[in-house]
Amino acid sequence: MDSEARAQARINNLINQDKQTDSTIDNQFEVTMDFIRYHLMAFYQRYADDNGLSVSQTSQQVNQWDIQQWRDVLKRMNITSWEQEAQDRAKVLSAQAGINKTNLINAIIGLGLLNLTNQQITTIGSRLNSDNDEAIEDLRQELNLTSAQVAILRNLDDGDDWQDNFWLASDGIRNNVEITFNNSLRAGLTQIALGTLLAVHFSNKEKRPNKSIADRIGQLVNSAKGYVRTYSSIQINRRKTKAYKYKPEIKQVKWITEPGCCKLCASIQRSNPYDKISAPIPGLDSHPYCRCTIIPIRTHSYDDTDEEDDD
Ligand SMILES: [Zn+2]
Repeated sequence: MDSEARAQARINNLINQDKQTDSTIDNQFEVTMDFIRYHLMAFYQRYADDNGLSVSQTSQQVNQWDIQQWRDVLKRMNITSWEQEAQDRAKVLSAQAGINKTNLINAIIGLGLLNLTNQQITTIGSRLNSDNDEAIEDLRQELNLTSAQVAILRNLDDGDDWQDNFWLASDGIRNNVEITFNNSLRAGLTQIALGTLLAVHFSNKEKRPNKSIADRIGQLVNSAKGYVRTYSSIQINRRKTKAYKYKPEIKQVKWITEPGCCKLCASIQRSNPYDKISAPIPGLDSHPYCRCTIIPIRTHSYDDTDEEDDD
């Protein structure tokens, strides 16, 4: 297999792994929605009258039953195993939960979202780690890297702050979910309204994130899937770029597109080859979700300069 075919095979492999990670992320979403639905229903069955649930009912002080709900949730969540970022936010929710019933149910939904975010960050992080490991191993073999060079690649600080960004996205979603829930309480939460609030839609056309908290949380699911692809691509290709600098025989690189790539990436490929120092990085210089890649062009001898024209 030549290096271009190897790169294509690697792209296909990553795309397949992305699909598997998607189903993990989808599964986490389903479990979260089950959790939220269960607690909202319990709350509804406990307090709704013939007209549903109103603000006047939920603005009352929490009682023993409410507190027990909260305790049950805390017990099930195993918060002490969460990342610090998640634990800090859970503390804020704990303080909020005691204010009144509205705050308590919002805190329970919020805790479900924190748990989801914590799981998503773990999932994204472990994919990035294993993708980086595989990429570094490929580079080690292909370029005969020394163990010192491999160590530098392993310890490369990407400085992407993707966790901070993901938490910000999650906080925004949590805020919106709370607004949507409070709005439907104010309008009078009937059984039908509760159904609307929890409805999961699969086509983009049907999604109503301002009415359905499931659709709103679905946006975080899409973000998580995007983070996996985008940051994996950026980090892999940063390591490649770094490794090529170690090899004087590599002067240029070329952009290899993923199957069915977009117009932007096709045009980046048409401008091949690139100087290895200034080559574009897939995901960073193209677009989010990009699975294109770069490969080196090796100059074997000074008369072998037309390798870029062989396709
Ligand atoms: Zn691309």
